[in-house]
Amino acid sequence: MRKNGVIVPPLSTQNIYTIAKSIRAAMNSPLYVPIDRIYEVLLKLIKGFSFEIVTKAEIGDDHGLTYPDKKIIQIREDIYDGACRGNGRDRFTMAHELGHLFLHRGVRFARSPKGIEIPVYRNSEWQADTFASGFLVDEGFLRRCESVEEVADTFGISIAAAKCRFGKNEGRAGAATPARPFHQGSWMA
Ligand SMILES: [Zn+2]
Repeated sequence: MRKNGVIVPPLSTQNIYTIAKSIRAAMNSPLYVPIDRIYEVLLKLIKGFSFEIVTKAEIGDDHGLTYPDKKIIQIREDIYDGACRGNGRDRFTMAHELGHLFLHRGVRFARSPKGIEIPVYRNSEWQADTFASGFLVDEGFLRRCESVEEVADTFGISIAAAKCRFGKNEGRAGAATPARPFHQGSWMA
């Protein structure tokens, strides 16, 4: 998490959702993404990837930090604990950091010139947030949800994050995507 973001090559929401969805599909994740266990699996799948749980003294106010080219993700311990307990915001943080890992490897970061607003689609933080939302929320099932609360509960995200997705009638091109059934408990046991 970098508060203001840096300029990165442009990516559209749909570009990012497609990337996030394909990674989730490749991992055969259940509807409720077990984000902490996804990290464990990625440790085995991505050569050189390391994941560190760090103290507040080490990382300060940041909830997580990613060094995409070193393939290192650091998550603050209270955030990691929260994500393991199913806290939506903390789960989103862990998915956000994966966004940096997958979207920003080998990318040249640029500081935004003072006084010039970065378009959102070129902002590293917007891109990572969009990835997190795309990674945690299944578009096919989203269209069947009837309330913001149902979106939040189903996908384990905060009400605020659920509001960003509910009722947007997004992704009509992908309307044929079948919703996957729940199969919690058996995932990569
Ligand atoms: Zn970030």
